[in-house]
Amino acid sequence: MTFRGDANFDTTTVSKGGGRGPSGGAIAVGGGGIVTVILVIVSMIFGVDLTGLAPSAPIDPQSQSQGSEEVTGCTGEQANDPANVTCRMEGGADSMSAFWTATMQANGLEYADPSVQLFDRQVETGCGAATSAVGPFYCPPDQRIYLDETFFAQMRDQFGAEGGNLAELYVLAHEWGHHIQSATGQLDRVQQGDTGPQSSAVRSELQADCYAGAWMAGASQTADDDGGAPVLEQPTEEQMARALDAARTIGDDRLQEMSGGGVNPEGWTHGSSEQRQTWLLNGYNGGVGACDTWNAAEV
Ligand SMILES: [Zn+2]
Repeated sequence: MTFRGDANFDTTTVSKGGGRGPSGGAIAVGGGGIVTVILVIVSMIFGVDLTGLAPSAPIDPQSQSQGSEEVTGCTGEQANDPANVTCRMEGGADSMSAFWTATMQANGLEYADPSVQLFDRQVETGCGAATSAVGPFYCPPDQRIYLDETFFAQMRDQFGAEGGNLAELYVLAHEWGHHIQSATGQLDRVQQGDTGPQSSAVRSELQADCYAGAWMAGASQTADDDGGAPVLEQPTEEQMARALDAARTIGDDRLQEMSGGGVNPEGWTHGSSEQRQTWLLNGYNGGVGACDTWNAAEV
Protein backbone atom coordinates (compact mmCIF):
# COMPACT_ATOMS: atom_id res chain seq x y z
CA MET A 1 0.00 0.00 0.00
CA THR A 2 1.30 3.42 -0.92
CA PHE A 3 0.79 6.71 0.89
CA ARG A 4 0.14 9.89 -1.06
CA GLY A 5 3.53 11.58 -1.06
CA ASP A 6 2.15 14.96 0.00
CA ALA A 7 0.00 13.58 2.83
CA ASN A 8 0.66 15.06 6.27
CA PHE A 9 -0.05 13.07 9.39
CA ASP A 10 -1.20 14.81 12.52
CA THR A 11 -2.17 11.86 14.68
CA THR A 12 -0.69 11.76 18.13
CA THR A 13 -1.59 8.15 18.82
CA VAL A 14 1.86 6.78 18.00
CA SER A 15 4.71 6.94 20.47
CA LYS A 16 8.14 5.48 20.47
CA GLY A 17 10.36 4.04 23.17
CA GLY A 18 9.73 2.97 26.74
CA GLY A 19 6.48 1.62 27.99
CA ARG A 20 4.03 2.37 30.70
CA GLY A 21 1.68 0.92 33.21
CA PRO A 22 2.29 -1.45 36.07
CA SER A 23 3.23 -5.03 35.48
CA GLY A 24 0.11 -7.07 35.98
CA GLY A 25 -1.52 -10.34 35.11
CA ALA A 26 -4.04 -9.13 32.55
CA ILE A 27 -4.45 -11.09 29.36
CA ALA A 28 -2.80 -9.70 26.26
CA VAL A 29 -4.11 -10.40 22.80
CA GLY A 30 -1.68 -11.40 20.13
CA GLY A 31 1.19 -12.22 22.42
CA GLY A 32 2.31 -15.64 23.39
CA GLY A 33 4.94 -17.59 25.21
CA ILE A 34 8.61 -17.07 24.79
CA VAL A 35 9.78 -18.81 21.63
CA THR A 36 12.96 -18.61 19.67
CA VAL A 37 12.00 -19.91 16.24
CA ILE A 38 11.55 -16.88 14.04
CA LEU A 39 8.82 -18.46 11.96
CA VAL A 40 6.81 -19.09 15.07
CA ILE A 41 7.40 -15.49 16.09
CA VAL A 42 6.11 -14.41 12.72
CA SER A 43 2.95 -16.39 13.35
CA MET A 44 2.33 -14.32 16.43
CA ILE A 45 2.26 -11.05 14.58
CA PHE A 46 -1.35 -11.80 13.85
CA GLY A 47 -1.92 -14.11 16.72
CA VAL A 48 -4.16 -14.23 19.67
CA ASP A 49 -2.66 -16.53 22.20
CA LEU A 50 -4.42 -16.40 25.48
CA THR A 51 -1.56 -17.73 27.48
CA GLY A 52 -0.93 -14.01 27.96
CA LEU A 53 2.35 -12.36 28.67
CA ALA A 54 4.48 -13.63 31.48
CA PRO A 55 4.16 -11.02 34.21
CA SER A 56 7.46 -12.19 35.62
CA ALA A 57 9.47 -11.93 32.39
CA PRO A 58 12.81 -10.45 33.40
CA ILE A 59 13.38 -6.83 32.44
CA ASP A 60 16.89 -5.55 32.49
CA PRO A 61 16.69 -2.05 34.00
CA GLN A 62 19.88 -1.06 32.21
CA SER A 63 18.38 -1.50 28.78
CA GLN A 64 14.82 -0.49 29.55
CA SER A 65 14.29 2.78 27.78
CA GLN A 66 12.85 5.55 29.89
CA GLY A 67 9.73 7.42 28.90
CA SER A 68 8.40 7.68 25.39
CA GLU A 69 8.07 10.34 22.74
CA GLU A 70 5.05 11.07 20.62
CA VAL A 71 5.54 10.85 16.87
CA THR A 72 4.07 13.69 14.80
CA GLY A 73 4.61 15.54 11.57
CA CYS A 74 5.53 12.72 9.17
CA THR A 75 4.74 13.03 5.47
CA GLY A 76 3.47 10.36 3.08
CA GLU A 77 6.83 10.34 1.36
CA GLN A 78 8.53 9.45 4.64
CA ALA A 79 5.90 6.79 5.37
CA ASN A 80 6.70 5.08 2.04
CA ASP A 81 10.41 4.91 2.86
CA PRO A 82 11.17 1.24 3.69
CA ALA A 83 13.63 2.37 6.37
CA ASN A 84 11.15 4.65 8.14
CA VAL A 85 8.93 2.31 10.18
CA THR A 86 7.99 5.06 12.62
CA CYS A 87 6.45 7.30 9.97
CA ARG A 88 4.77 4.32 8.30
CA MET A 89 3.06 3.47 11.58
CA GLU A 90 2.02 7.07 12.05
CA GLY A 91 0.57 7.16 8.53
CA GLY A 92 -1.18 3.84 9.07
CA ALA A 93 -2.61 5.00 12.40
CA ASP A 94 -3.84 8.23 10.78
CA SER A 95 -5.66 6.23 8.10
CA MET A 96 -7.07 3.62 10.49
CA SER A 97 -8.29 6.33 12.85
CA ALA A 98 -10.21 8.00 10.02
CA PHE A 99 -11.58 4.69 8.72
CA TRP A 100 -12.74 3.31 12.06
CA THR A 101 -14.10 6.63 13.35
CA ALA A 102 -16.31 6.85 10.25
CA THR A 103 -17.27 3.17 10.37
CA MET A 104 -18.19 3.15 14.05
CA GLN A 105 -20.13 6.41 13.77
CA ALA A 106 -22.07 5.00 10.83
CA ASN A 107 -23.09 2.12 13.08
CA GLY A 108 -24.02 4.37 15.99
CA LEU A 109 -21.18 3.07 18.16
CA GLU A 110 -18.89 5.04 20.42
CA TYR A 111 -15.27 4.87 19.50
CA ALA A 112 -11.86 6.04 20.67
CA ASP A 113 -8.58 5.25 18.92
CA PRO A 114 -6.10 2.89 20.51
CA SER A 115 -2.63 4.23 21.11
CA VAL A 116 0.34 2.68 19.38
CA GLN A 117 3.68 2.10 21.08
CA LEU A 118 6.83 1.24 19.16
CA PHE A 119 9.42 -0.32 21.42
CA ASP A 120 12.89 -1.75 21.19
CA ARG A 121 13.53 -5.21 22.70
CA GLN A 122 11.40 -4.93 25.83
CA VAL A 123 8.59 -2.95 27.34
CA GLU A 124 6.46 -2.73 30.48
CA THR A 125 2.73 -2.84 29.77
CA GLY A 126 -0.58 -3.10 31.59
CA CYS A 127 -0.52 -6.75 30.52
CA GLY A 128 2.89 -7.38 32.04
CA ALA A 129 6.44 -7.15 30.80
CA ALA A 130 7.03 -8.08 27.17
CA THR A 131 10.11 -8.76 25.07
CA SER A 132 10.67 -9.02 21.32
CA ALA A 133 10.03 -12.76 21.56
CA VAL A 134 6.34 -12.13 22.17
CA GLY A 135 5.75 -10.38 18.84
CA PRO A 136 3.36 -7.47 18.29
CA PHE A 137 0.23 -7.54 20.46
CA TYR A 138 -2.75 -5.58 21.71
CA CYS A 139 -3.19 -5.04 25.43
CA PRO A 140 -6.89 -4.41 26.24
CA PRO A 141 -6.45 -2.73 29.66
CA ASP A 142 -4.04 -0.21 28.07
CA GLN A 143 -6.04 0.08 24.84
CA ARG A 144 -2.61 0.10 23.30
CA ILE A 145 -0.93 -1.73 20.42
CA TYR A 146 2.69 -2.71 21.10
CA LEU A 147 5.01 -3.14 18.13
CA ASP A 148 8.61 -4.23 18.41
CA GLU A 149 11.05 -2.64 15.96
CA THR A 150 13.52 -5.52 15.92
CA PHE A 151 10.65 -7.82 15.04
CA PHE A 152 9.79 -5.63 12.06
CA ALA A 153 13.42 -5.86 10.92
CA GLN A 154 13.16 -9.67 10.96
CA MET A 155 9.93 -9.53 9.01
CA ARG A 156 11.54 -7.28 6.42
CA ASP A 157 14.20 -9.94 5.85
CA GLN A 158 11.45 -12.43 5.15
CA PHE A 159 9.13 -10.36 2.98
CA GLY A 160 11.56 -7.96 1.28
CA ALA A 161 11.41 -4.17 1.27
CA GLU A 162 8.09 -3.52 -0.42
CA GLY A 163 6.43 -6.63 0.94
CA GLY A 164 7.76 -5.55 4.32
CA ASN A 165 5.97 -2.19 4.13
CA LEU A 166 2.69 -3.89 3.46
CA ALA A 167 3.20 -6.62 6.04
CA GLU A 168 3.90 -3.96 8.68
CA LEU A 169 0.64 -2.16 7.89
CA TYR A 170 -1.16 -5.51 7.93
CA VAL A 171 0.20 -6.14 11.43
CA LEU A 172 -1.00 -2.73 12.60
CA ALA A 173 -4.41 -3.18 10.94
CA HIS A 174 -4.83 -6.64 12.49
CA GLU A 175 -3.95 -5.43 15.98
CA TRP A 176 -6.26 -2.43 15.47
CA GLY A 177 -8.91 -5.05 14.66
CA HIS A 178 -8.44 -6.53 18.14
CA HIS A 179 -9.03 -3.04 19.55
CA ILE A 180 -12.32 -2.87 17.63
CA GLN A 181 -13.24 -6.30 19.03
CA SER A 182 -12.46 -5.02 22.50
CA ALA A 183 -14.52 -1.84 22.00
CA THR A 184 -17.51 -3.84 20.74
CA GLY A 185 -17.31 -6.57 23.37
CA GLN A 186 -16.55 -9.28 20.82
CA LEU A 187 -13.21 -10.04 22.42
CA ASP A 188 -15.10 -11.35 25.47
CA ARG A 189 -16.31 -14.26 23.36
CA VAL A 190 -12.84 -15.81 23.25
CA GLN A 191 -12.59 -18.71 25.68
CA GLN A 192 -9.19 -19.36 27.13
CA GLY A 193 -7.64 -22.61 25.95
CA ASP A 194 -10.19 -23.06 23.16
CA THR A 195 -8.29 -24.13 20.01
CA GLY A 196 -9.07 -25.76 16.67
CA PRO A 197 -10.27 -24.64 13.22
CA GLN A 198 -13.72 -23.55 14.44
CA SER A 199 -12.68 -22.38 17.92
CA SER A 200 -13.39 -19.00 19.48
CA ALA A 201 -9.65 -18.18 19.32
CA VAL A 202 -9.52 -18.80 15.56
CA ARG A 203 -12.79 -16.93 14.98
CA SER A 204 -11.33 -13.94 16.82
CA GLU A 205 -8.13 -14.04 14.76
CA LEU A 206 -9.98 -14.38 11.47
CA GLN A 207 -12.23 -11.46 12.36
CA ALA A 208 -9.13 -9.32 12.99
CA ASP A 209 -7.81 -10.40 9.57
CA CYS A 210 -11.17 -9.52 8.04
CA TYR A 211 -11.14 -6.08 9.67
CA ALA A 212 -7.63 -5.56 8.28
CA GLY A 213 -8.96 -6.42 4.80
CA ALA A 214 -11.90 -4.04 5.24
CA TRP A 215 -9.49 -1.26 6.12
CA MET A 216 -7.25 -2.07 3.12
CA ALA A 217 -10.22 -1.61 0.80
CA GLY A 218 -11.71 1.37 2.64
CA ALA A 219 -8.54 3.34 3.37
CA SER A 220 -8.33 4.92 -0.07
CA GLN A 221 -12.03 5.91 0.11
CA THR A 222 -11.90 7.55 3.54
CA ALA A 223 -11.21 11.26 3.92
CA ASP A 224 -8.43 12.27 6.29
CA ASP A 225 -9.41 13.21 9.87
CA ASP A 226 -9.59 16.88 8.93
CA GLY A 227 -11.65 16.21 5.81
CA GLY A 228 -8.68 16.21 3.42
CA ALA A 229 -7.97 13.63 0.72
CA PRO A 230 -7.39 9.99 1.77
CA VAL A 231 -3.78 9.45 2.80
CA LEU A 232 -3.48 6.09 1.03
CA GLU A 233 -3.78 5.19 -2.62
CA GLN A 234 -5.94 2.26 -3.72
CA PRO A 235 -3.95 -1.00 -3.26
CA THR A 236 -2.71 -2.43 -6.54
CA GLU A 237 -3.44 -6.02 -7.53
CA GLU A 238 0.17 -6.86 -6.84
CA GLN A 239 -0.03 -5.33 -3.37
CA MET A 240 -3.13 -7.35 -2.54
CA ALA A 241 -1.39 -10.48 -3.81
CA ARG A 242 1.44 -9.71 -1.39
CA ALA A 243 -1.00 -9.23 1.47
CA LEU A 244 -2.59 -12.58 0.70
CA ASP A 245 0.83 -14.14 0.56
CA ALA A 246 1.58 -12.74 4.02
CA ALA A 247 -1.69 -14.24 5.28
CA ARG A 248 -0.75 -17.60 3.75
CA THR A 249 2.71 -17.47 5.32
CA ILE A 250 1.36 -17.28 8.85
CA GLY A 251 -1.35 -19.95 8.59
CA ASP A 252 -1.20 -22.47 11.44
CA ASP A 253 -1.03 -25.47 9.10
CA ARG A 254 1.91 -24.06 7.21
CA LEU A 255 3.74 -23.13 10.41
CA GLN A 256 3.17 -26.60 11.82
CA GLU A 257 4.65 -28.10 8.65
CA MET A 258 7.61 -25.74 8.76
CA SER A 259 8.37 -26.68 12.34
CA GLY A 260 8.70 -30.32 11.26
CA GLY A 261 5.68 -31.73 13.03
CA GLY A 262 2.58 -33.00 11.32
CA VAL A 263 -0.43 -30.79 10.77
CA ASN A 264 -2.67 -30.91 13.82
CA PRO A 265 -5.83 -28.82 13.29
CA GLU A 266 -6.92 -29.24 16.91
CA GLY A 267 -3.94 -27.13 17.98
CA TRP A 268 -4.77 -24.18 15.75
CA THR A 269 -5.13 -20.80 17.44
CA HIS A 270 -4.93 -18.47 14.45
CA GLY A 271 -6.42 -20.35 11.50
CA SER A 272 -5.03 -22.16 8.47
CA SER A 273 -3.43 -20.41 5.50
CA GLU A 274 -6.65 -20.89 3.57
CA GLN A 275 -8.82 -19.54 6.40
CA ARG A 276 -6.66 -16.45 6.85
CA GLN A 277 -6.60 -15.67 3.13
CA THR A 278 -10.36 -16.23 2.89
CA TRP A 279 -11.23 -13.84 5.71
CA LEU A 280 -8.77 -11.16 4.63
CA LEU A 281 -10.49 -11.24 1.24
CA ASN A 282 -13.97 -11.33 2.80
CA GLY A 283 -13.16 -8.03 4.50
CA TYR A 284 -11.51 -6.59 1.41
CA ASN A 285 -14.45 -7.45 -0.84
CA GLY A 286 -17.36 -7.13 1.59
CA GLY A 287 -16.25 -4.59 4.18
CA VAL A 288 -16.76 -4.70 7.93
CA GLY A 289 -20.26 -6.14 7.56
CA ALA A 290 -18.75 -9.30 6.07
CA CYS A 291 -16.65 -9.95 9.19
CA ASP A 292 -19.07 -11.72 11.54
CA THR A 293 -16.98 -14.80 12.14
CA TRP A 294 -18.94 -15.54 15.34
CA ASN A 295 -22.19 -16.39 13.61
CA ALA A 296 -20.71 -18.03 10.53
CA ALA A 297 -21.61 -21.74 10.54
CA GLU A 298 -18.05 -22.49 9.45
CA VAL A 299 -15.05 -20.21 9.25
ZN1 LIG B 1 -4.32 -11.39 16.47
